[in-house]
Amino acid sequence: MRILILSDIHANLTALEAVLTHAGEFDSLWCLGDLVGYGPDPNECVETIRSLPNLTCLIGNHDAAVIDQMDAATFNPEARLSIEWTLQQLTQENLTYLSQLPNRIVVENATLVHGSPRSPTFEYLLDTHLATINFAYFETPFCFVGHTHLPAQYLLANGQGHASLIIPQPNQVMRLAARSIINPGSVGQPRDRDPRAAYAIFETQNNSWDYRRIPYDIQAVQKRMKAHKLPERHIQRLVAGW
Ligand code: ZN
Repeated sequence: MRILILSDIHANLTALEAVLTHAGEFDSLWCLGDLVGYGPDPNECVETIRSLPNLTCLIGNHDAAVIDQMDAATFNPEARLSIEWTLQQLTQENLTYLSQLPNRIVVENATLVHGSPRSPTFEYLLDTHLATINFAYFETPFCFVGHTHLPAQYLLANGQGHASLIIPQPNQVMRLAARSIINPGSVGQPRDRDPRAAYAIFETQNNSWDYRRIPYDIQAVQKRMKAHKLPERHIQRLVAGW
């Protein structure tokens, strides 16, 4: 099975459309959450994702904040502003859709969460120490996560007590070894200083991981964000990818 894996779209329809065009055909789509927040196109992004066949979609912390599962006060003021704006924009149907998303799911040989297997919606897996702890919280060979917006593979090989971090190189296919926690990076707001949209194709026959980066029209997104008076900081960061 050829599986398209996306995360952290963040209401950036231009990036999402570029990824879907570039990805070609796939058997299933696994979306790891944060469909909305920051970007100017929340309804369009939710509707695009919902319309795709064989979809498994998780809830992210921004999605949860919008549907009020978590207190928006835990976000910084600019992120909170964007969450409030997003809530005003979203149709009731799209809000209902977000409110039904699971925070953790096991599919094929993988566990899917937004943040981490220990704390599915909220924990940021930013180092090998946290990753090592989290291997005890899932059973499958692989766990796919988003949330940090940073492409990464944490590997806990047989007999090893501590996970190692591998930074995947874009456009280079690699074979995933068990057990691994893997992050495909962010479609709509990359934070690794590479502004290109990130996504991956996971092939279940041989566990190959094809992680890709592609350019998209960032200025078009910035223009829409300006028109909606979204925070300047969120407009600027797209250009440099931070
Ligand atoms: Zn996010």
